Amino acid sequence: GSADVECDVLVLGGGPGGYSAAFRAADLGLKVVLVERYATLGGVCLNVGCIPSKALLHVAAVMDEVAHLGDLGVDFGAPSVNVDKLRGHKEKVIAKLTGGLAAMAKMRKVTIVRGLGQFVGSHHLEVQETTGTGQATTGSKKVVAFQKAIIAAGSQAVRLPFMPNDPRVVDSTGALALAGVPKKMLIVGGGIIGLEMGTVYSTLGARLDVVEMMDGLMQGADRDLVKIWQKMNAKRFDNILLKTKTVGAEATPEGIKVQFEGLDGTKSEGVYDLVLQAVGRTPNGKKLAADKAGVAVTERGFIDVDIQMRTNVPHIFAIGDIVGQPMLAHKAVHEAHVAAEVIAGELQGNKELAASAFNARVIPSVAYTDPEVAWVGLTEDQAKAQGIKVKKGLFPWTASGRAIANGRDEGVTKLLFDDSPEAHGHGRILGGGMVGTHAGDMIGEIALAIEMGADAVDIGKTIHPHPTLGESIGMAAEVAHGSCTDLP
Ligand code: FAD
Repeated sequence: GSADVECDVLVLGGGPGGYSAAFRAADLGLKVVLVERYATLGGVCLNVGCIPSKALLHVAAVMDEVAHLGDLGVDFGAPSVNVDKLRGHKEKVIAKLTGGLAAMAKMRKVTIVRGLGQFVGSHHLEVQETTGTGQATTGSKKVVAFQKAIIAAGSQAVRLPFMPNDPRVVDSTGALALAGVPKKMLIVGGGIIGLEMGTVYSTLGARLDVVEMMDGLMQGADRDLVKIWQKMNAKRFDNILLKTKTVGAEATPEGIKVQFEGLDGTKSEGVYDLVLQAVGRTPNGKKLAADKAGVAVTERGFIDVDIQMRTNVPHIFAIGDIVGQPMLAHKAVHEAHVAAEVIAGELQGNKELAASAFNARVIPSVAYTDPEVAWVGLTEDQAKAQGIKVKKGLFPWTASGRAIANGRDEGVTKLLFDDSPEAHGHGRILGGGMVGTHAGDMIGEIALAIEMGADAVDIGKTIHPHPTLGESIGMAAEVAHGSCTDLP
């Protein structure tokens, strides 16, 4: 045909899914073209997601820690925040990482085509030139011909239809831009993204309200863990509106006036300097002209795939946020490796690679708040709801020497083991959760234990270094096994 570029594999989208797929495919010897509409690689995660939020959350966590030190006898006085400099720190972090990705792409000879891609056939993608900020121009078009394709076009924030178009109404991208610190901020949606941004803004001085339709914040995590988080964070909030819908909003000179309606019919209203919409993310599946390639897209914009990440069209794969929940970067990366390996295996006649599949048992979730909340696998609330018999090992950090020394003993580590009759009292670990400082850094060990099929003895007899917070995982296992007699 009349293609401008030809390749073995086209990767559409340069986020964690896309760049990981492109790099793995290139490492396996394939000729790879990566199409990305923005000037930098990294997608949502590096540019407007995981990484910039953590750059700001790190600063917030240190500020909170320093504030705690007053109780331990060391006072630093009131913080003085230079928002411009803080924003600059965040920008530098992004630039360093996206620059690193560009260098890695070059090293691997991955061809990057900047522009907005849309399918024009089952083996062709048309790429419309874009500006650095991702907007399509009337400039040149290129056609990429591919043998196989991996769709990694990600997702975007959901907008509430009634929210006024006003700089005081933002999504997570707008919140991360950190234009300033409002006095009074509303977070619409009490999920991880909203609460992480709320943590940053409240530490910088904003008062928070949060409104959530469900009956609790941080859905997905066990309620006992969230309760501890909420107790520690109570002082950040003026109002926590649960079982409440946001039903209207208008821009006024005094602020954004927002109307709420409780599921019981109660009506209320608030006025805010900043409103963050954090009500979820929607996949970009409907914007790719996927039908031109024969790829089926669901009503909501997702692309269904099998465990090899293959769509309904055998030579086209999809990965990351666009294939479904959980919308997390580490899930996208693992799916990316599977898709790239299957493709390389098929193109090179390598049966082992071609058999690659996504069969992770569990995917961990982390709220990088203060304290952090992390969970993986079966939760206790799920076990109860599904009638699964579990043995629980709960280790409160009030018994952890390290947590006490840190002045942060509010945490809890919980492990759940199979307690069905077939397990004969030696059940494997099914899930775990933690709330406490650095919980996110420790949850990977519980994920590993689940993947390895460990039981409580395996974990309890593994010698953890003392005194560490991670030791609490071994202790929780001993509690479950009934051999925990000497708490530190
Ligand atoms: P994306 O990162 O969305 O990348 C898709 C890319 O495709 C984008 O660069 C887009 O420009 C490009 N694209 C789309 N359509 C086209 C087209 N037609 N042509 C050309 N290019 C196109 N996850 C975590 O695991 N940990 C976290 O701590 C975390 N924090 C987050 C914080 C925030 C504020 C947000 C919003 C998200 C966070 N996430 C986090 C989620 C994480 O960012 C996503 O799961 C991840 O980025 C998904 O990767 P992806 O490759 O599927 O898609």
